[in-house]
Amino acid sequence: MSGILRGEKLIEAINAADESTVRTVLRGLCADDEVEKLVGKHLYQVANLITTKAGTSDSKRKATASVHICVRCGNAFDENDNKTKKECRYHPEEMEIDDSSSAWYDWDEDAHGEKDTPENRRTPHLLRGYIYYCCEKRADESEGCKLGYHKAVDGKRGKYDFDDDDDDEEEEDDDEEDVEDDKDDEEDE
Ligand SMILES: [Zn+2]
Ligand SMILES: [Zn+2]
Repeated sequence: MSGILRGEKLIEAINAADESTVRTVLRGLCADDEVEKLVGKHLYQVANLITTKAGTSDSKRKATASVHICVRCGNAFDENDNKTKKECRYHPEEMEIDDSSSAWYDWDEDAHGEKDTPENRRTPHLLRGYIYYCCEKRADESEGCKLGYHKAVDGKRGKYDFDDDDDDEEEEDDDEEDVEDDKDDEEDE
């Protein structure tokens, strides 16, 4: 189908759209339960951050222009703070199913369907049935094994892709820290 914008073109179109168009699209997105939760979370976080910023010195408009949602951790951040402070906790690798986890103890694939589905990956009580490949931590007890800079949507490369090269270079540095050590590896039964 033509008329569907993606990637860089989509980001450009969002930046160029007028306010009421953006509101219409956002309301439409809320028809999907999962997307509705995300829209609610992002709206709340961005509004909070802007109120804090505007309350200090910046005007509201100026504060709004520098706020983004991080594609790694899903939190709102201000691009000015992000130049100096590493506040993004994330996993550099995907999570994968842990078949030996007790989360799947009475899971019958014939009755319940496949274990590893996008829905199950979002279901809070099933998260302990997944581990992150990067650190082998259970997905329900791990907030991110890497500390780095937040990363904005990079549909328009260069403009929104903050300090990523820099971040990669520093991967061996001591300020890239492991959140926890591996002492609880044996806990899951
Ligand atoms: Zn990890
Ligand atoms: Zn982040």
